[in-house]
Amino acid sequence: HRELESRLAHFLDVPFVSLFNNGTVALQIALKSLDLPAGGEVIVTPFTFPASVHVIDACGLTPVFCDIDPVTLTIDPVRIESLITDRTCAILGVHVYGIACDVKAIDALAAKHGIKVIYDAAHAFATRVDGKPISLFGDITMHSFHATKLFHTVEGGALISPHAELQPTIYLQRNFGIANEETILLAGLNGKMNELQA
Ligand SMILES: *Cc1c(COP(=O)(O)O)cnc(C)c1O
Repeated sequence: HRELESRLAHFLDVPFVSLFNNGTVALQIALKSLDLPAGGEVIVTPFTFPASVHVIDACGLTPVFCDIDPVTLTIDPVRIESLITDRTCAILGVHVYGIACDVKAIDALAAKHGIKVIYDAAHAFATRVDGKPISLFGDITMHSFHATKLFHTVEGGALISPHAELQPTIYLQRNFGIANEETILLAGLNGKMNELQA
């Protein structure tokens, strides 16, 4: 498990990789790790696999659908801006069929409005935009390693973030919040990838 995490981090040229039992749990933990306010709105595309939207609901947040760009089929940054309200806490963009979202426009919008960005990169692996690894845009990116994806462990997934300080929180969220045998620091899930699959 540790060897796969470090080899993937090296291969993808990112600060760290956290492995998961699947991409859906990874995405749910990405949202939980960003401390989004209960009841907040997350702007998301409906042109995706159901899990991208279900995890928003599972976190007690409200999905707000935004239409896609007819050429790239990815969430349209111009339409995103028209949907931002004072309840908006995040944008969840999905890279589709190997076409990356307009990550630069989306990240700029999020910075302007002080909101978080999560990318569902189940359809992307080792992609770069302007030379930068795709999983270093936004605050956290999820990769799925399901058997139908580009790189796989039969079932599996990963979270990657440019913010190295998120790694300990992601680790706790993935493993029941257990810091050590005596200390439970938060209410986590069981999201660990097992050794056999790693
Ligand atoms: C496959 C997929 C998921 C879910 O990933 P799992 O590893 O199967 O849980 C989420 N979003 C998109 C866009 C997908 O294609």
